[in-house]
Order: sequence, then structure tokens, then C-alpha cells
Amino acid sequence: MLRLVILQILYIFLMKTQPIYLEDSYQQEMDGVIENVLDESEGRYRLILDKTVFYPMGGGQSTDQGILECPEGKMEVYMVMMKDGEINHYVKAIMKPEIGQRVHGKINWERRYGNMRKHSAGHVVDFALYLLGYSPKTLLPLKGDHDKKPQIVYQGSVDTPLQEEIEKKANELVAQNISFSWAFKPLDEVEKQVIYLQPGLPANKPLRILTLEGVGSVADGGTQVHQTAEIGHISITQIDVHDGQTIVFYSIA
Ligand SMILES: [Zn+2]
Repeated sequence: MLRLVILQILYIFLMKTQPIYLEDSYQQEMDGVIENVLDESEGRYRLILDKTVFYPMGGGQSTDQGILECPEGKMEVYMVMMKDGEINHYVKAIMKPEIGQRVHGKINWERRYGNMRKHSAGHVVDFALYLLGYSPKTLLPLKGDHDKKPQIVYQGSVDTPLQEEIEKKANELVAQNISFSWAFKPLDEVEKQVIYLQPGLPANKPLRILTLEGVGSVADGGTQVHQTAEIGHISITQIDVHDGQTIVFYSIA
């Protein structure tokens, strides 16, 4: 949905860290090794690991938080970000971590699961617009934010009031408890499957494709729930139209 998502999808084939969260969004813990340590400020460091369950903020989805445990003690992971093509774990630690050190990582699952539900809800809303015939022809998806004020921004506008119609269709998809699934595919296969294609996708690298069973597929790099029922009721709280763009605000319980 977002350029940032696409960048993340690209980076994963070049970076040091195996992103476990892209394959299994329900894995909460992992054992890993520190590959690099960078100084941030007093008592704060940036760590690159060989693998991670921590989702780096991006694609409209907020950062994971949690802890990294090692024999020397616990480190608090307060932010995770893509930087210079790598997944950086920003930690607070009493002792400076060392390259080669083994760590046990554990994400704050309550926070992550909330982010997954909000992110998947955004895609359900987007698929609802697709099923209603508005997207991608009349309303072209530009970007999404699935954090504090969840919203999807579309290029274009329509004259009819959309709020109730979208909310009804989105909650039908929730009630049907449909499966989300994901897979890595080359661009030519992605092109054939998706309901819309972001510009600038590379032809020479696999992309992650997200499918809502029996509805459609999009390219995506965030974490998702397995079943739409996990999202719960979706409210379309507001729709703004200005400068030729339509912004659909939504929330979940
Ligand atoms: Zn997404």
C-alpha cells in the first residue's frame, strides 16, 4: 500500500537480519546473535541481530517494543527501525552489548497484536472499497496509517456518502471470518494477482503478496492477523475529502 512497505520488502533480501515477523506474525520470541552494535547515547545502543521477531516501524504500522535477554541482564527494546537498509533495535542497557553475544528476544505481544489487528483492519476497509467498486478505479489507494489515528488515503473522490456503505461491507468481511495469507512471489506473478499495483516495484526481486481469501491480493510488508474475525467490529469514524483526495478514517474496538 505504501512506498515504505515496498522499501521494506526490498531490503529483506539484502539485509543481515532474517525478518521472522514477515513469515510468522504470531511468533513472539526468538534466540538470536548480535551482529553489530552502534552507540546511540549514554546507555543507549542500536543492535543488528541475525534474526528478529521485532517489527520495524513502517508501512503505517508502529514499532514493536519488548526485551532482549542475555546472561549479563535484560535490555529494553524501545524502538525498532529500518536504517541504512538494516533492522535497528534501539535498546537501553546498563552494560554495552557485544558483537557475537547471544540474546533471547521477546516482543510486547499485547502491543503487537493490537497493531496487527489495526493494520489488517485497514486492509479489510481497503478490500471493502474494492468490492464496492470504488477502488482502485475511482479511488486509488495512496497510503495508510495504522497507528494512533488509523486512516487510508485515496486519490480521487466520489459524490455519494460512503461511510455507512464501507462500514457495512467491512464488517461483513469480519463476520465471514475470512483468512489472510501471504507469500513471496516475483513481480510478474504479483502483477497478475493484485487488485492494484504500486508504481516502482522492482522486477528482479521477490515481493510479499497478501491475499484475503476469495477477495483479492495486494503487495504488503506489514504483520497481519490470520482471520478477519480477530479484528472485531470496524467503525468508519470519518471521511474527509480535500485537494482531490479522500481520507477514510477507521477504528477498531
Ligand atoms: Zn499493509
